[in-house]
Amino acid sequence: MLGLMQPWPLLCHKILDYAAAQHGQREIVSRSVEGPIVRTTWSGVRERALKVAQRLERDGFGLGDRIATLAWNTARHLEVWYGIMGVGAIYHTLNPRLFPDQIVWIMNHAEDRLLFVDLTFLPIVEKYCPSVTSVKKVVVLTDRAHMPQTSLPNAVPYEEWLAEADGDFSWKSFDENTAAGMCYTSGTTGDPKGVVYSHRSNVLHAMIAAMPDSMGISTRDTVLPVVPMFHANAWGLAQSCPMVGTKMVMPGGKMDGASIYELLDSEQVSFTAAVPTVWLMLLQHLEQTRKKLPYLKRVVIGGSACPRAITEKFQNDYDVEVIHAWGMTEMSPLGTLCTMKPEYDGLEGEARLGIQQKQGYAPFGVEMKVTDDDNREHPWDGKTFGRLKVRGPAVAGAYYGGASEEQFDTDGWFDTGDVAHIDAHGYMQITDRAKDVIKSGGEWISSIDLENLAVGHPDVAEAAVIGIHHAKWDERPLLVIVRKPGKEPAKEDILSFMQGKCAKWWMPDDVAFVAEIPHTATGKIQKITLREQFKDYRLPTDV
Ligand code: ADP
Repeated sequence: MLGLMQPWPLLCHKILDYAAAQHGQREIVSRSVEGPIVRTTWSGVRERALKVAQRLERDGFGLGDRIATLAWNTARHLEVWYGIMGVGAIYHTLNPRLFPDQIVWIMNHAEDRLLFVDLTFLPIVEKYCPSVTSVKKVVVLTDRAHMPQTSLPNAVPYEEWLAEADGDFSWKSFDENTAAGMCYTSGTTGDPKGVVYSHRSNVLHAMIAAMPDSMGISTRDTVLPVVPMFHANAWGLAQSCPMVGTKMVMPGGKMDGASIYELLDSEQVSFTAAVPTVWLMLLQHLEQTRKKLPYLKRVVIGGSACPRAITEKFQNDYDVEVIHAWGMTEMSPLGTLCTMKPEYDGLEGEARLGIQQKQGYAPFGVEMKVTDDDNREHPWDGKTFGRLKVRGPAVAGAYYGGASEEQFDTDGWFDTGDVAHIDAHGYMQITDRAKDVIKSGGEWISSIDLENLAVGHPDVAEAAVIGIHHAKWDERPLLVIVRKPGKEPAKEDILSFMQGKCAKWWMPDDVAFVAEIPHTATGKIQKITLREQFKDYRLPTDV
């Protein structure tokens, strides 16, 4: 017997309808790419999103078309997303931090038909876009007055293009499993892989993200997503915020400490989210200017492990609660959040910070397990680590075009490529990427744990640990260090600092000092390049 409830499909534009109906006057404030701060409301965003949809349809775009955006977080980018989804087309966010030839590869692979681009990125597009033959038109996200001369034959200023629509339009309706958005993983190994979100997965993910013990945002919050919309679906905030009707503050292209501080203060932001590097810049700015954060209550930090020092500073010096989070593009992207269960009531100081170093526990809608290489499940004991696998309604079931099928098993589990353990309270901690873990004599050594230990040394600016071939043990760890300017710690200083803080057999066999450690476009350590750099390295223990 089927239930007798209404078949109300979970479609993304219903989120915007709701925001306009219930929270229509709530503001969306953007630092525009042209410079000034501009203001609109959820009603305003909906009105213009309807025009985007109407205009797209008139230009012949609709169901299933991939429509690329290369843009910062602004209200314009939001209305474009919703307009695209509202005709059943698919927003495809491009990450401008990737190398141009990667962007071209991704656009060709997705066969994008139209591109919305911010002024900042027009030079890249002019140079590289002509090799993407599927793109029929380029809409530059500005008005006629700011539209530069361009060599692109089919480029129009957004405001002029939009002005040709009157907004008298109804969203298209279709099945909730229809594709809504697309985002490629950074592709640090091999080609980038396309993740395709559905309307249903986006709506469910937005609900999961907003729940009290997830991000816990409310209509009383003012939310500033520093995390870009092109970075793993803006961690769901582009959908969660209208779903609960928060005020939103969009930082445009300026992510430095001073610019972010200015918005946090002038707009009285209560909630924000970004990767650790952004917060390092903000904390530095605060220290230099001796400013405080009177309005900010909570900050979500993820994308890579949040250093203990950041959590400590936010909480102790600024009275801002840190929520460490883990996720990935394939998970829409939230996987776990480190909010506190009642089991930890009363936990303070170092003990609480220790828990907050973990990536947290999974909300409803994310199932997790940790297994060995033969898919045998490990106990939740907080120490046995293995492959982290997940499943849920907002987790990828396949990549676009069927790439990397081995990551999806027949029971619906997706192998994240991360290595982790889960403790008895359900809190997960990432110990490595599967491809970076060091396999020494059949046992695994976590490169991340060793890196965290090494950066605790006061003279170390950055640390990376890679496995080096070893005749006896297969692999042994090499610690690669960037020293702080003006500091000259010796190998022995660093090793004796680490001694006793990790298992004896985990201790690096050698230390190498370098001027710089290579990073990916999303700011993660590029171990592949590092391994290449040290491929002929001979450890002193390998005799
Ligand atoms: P993002 O775009 O957020 O970087 P990606 O899909 O490119 O997402 O990368 C996801 C990977 O980033 C994860 O598989 C994990 O290795 C790493 N990651 C994300 N959050 C954390 C975290 N809090 N701690 C450690 N690693 C993390």
